[in-house]
Amino acid sequence: MILLDGKKTSAEVKAVIKKDVEEFVSKGGKKPHLAAILVGSDGASETYVASKVRSCSEVGFDSTLERMPSQTTEEELLAKIDEFNKNADIDGFIVQLPLPNHIDEQKVTTTIFPEKDVDGFHPVNVGRMALGQPAYISATPYGITQMLEQYKIETSGKHCVVIGRSNIVGSPMSILMAKNSKYANCTVTLTHSRTKNLEEFTKAADIVIVALGKPAFLTGEMIKEGAVVIDVGITRVPDDSKKSGFRIQGDADFKSCAEKASYITPVPGGVGLMTVASLMKNTLAAAKNEIYG
Ligand code: NAD
Repeated sequence: MILLDGKKTSAEVKAVIKKDVEEFVSKGGKKPHLAAILVGSDGASETYVASKVRSCSEVGFDSTLERMPSQTTEEELLAKIDEFNKNADIDGFIVQLPLPNHIDEQKVTTTIFPEKDVDGFHPVNVGRMALGQPAYISATPYGITQMLEQYKIETSGKHCVVIGRSNIVGSPMSILMAKNSKYANCTVTLTHSRTKNLEEFTKAADIVIVALGKPAFLTGEMIKEGAVVIDVGITRVPDDSKKSGFRIQGDADFKSCAEKASYITPVPGGVGLMTVASLMKNTLAAAKNEIYG
């Protein structure tokens, strides 16, 4: 079994970005600038945003973190988005999800200009990605394809089973894996909460991408010998042995899956780090006007 090391791989991706930024700036380009809006103070969201801000400084980007209280109205948030859309110094920005219940996530996503939507959630970017046109690709699926590429995992003609059909992971992932491109070209089965006999699909899969938010859901018994397991799940599970009182658990039962898998991502230290590295890639592309010209 080979561990798909997100720490090592994301560091490699970020080292390339850092070099690229240095070159870009030395030729008179502006330092890329990523902004993030965080509404409320959800513990997990705080951690993700902090890691994004830290990565910006590692690769030589400017960053702005805009904190808004949890009582922020939808109108106030949309006004802030409008301000960031118009701010020429900001190349790309994200609104950290999830948002408080009184704010319509879809409205927020569609208000961000597609040219600045480095999370790749805007319908224009999703549509362009689906059609194979230049687009900001949703950071988690993008990170997974880069992981497959870095480890040169053969995907062409393989059967890939994606578990979970969310707009930010499962659905775009299934589209990307079916594309006629190098680290894709799979036959894809997209499974979800209404799928019957899930095990029949997972047992037949060469690659399983699991993103449903249920800790240790995918067990070794559900996969075939030699399968590639990509674990997207991040759940905080109570754990008294930790100072924080919790540990991070993926959607795959690592121990039993690792016994059968050819490659597997750990959690933490896998897909999450690649997601952040991909966000940096999208931001660099935004600063260089590579997608929208
Ligand atoms: P979500 O919570 O929006 O949706 C869950 C999906 O799982 C749904 O499509 C549902 O149909 C499916 N599902 C639920 N029960 C199922 C079952 N029994 N069998 C098959 N499918 C089932 O999903 P999300 O936002 O993609 O998040 C999934 C997990 O990935 C969460 O743990 C989240 O924290 C994590 N996540 C991690 C990253 C990262 O960077 N590593 C990024 C985004 C999300």
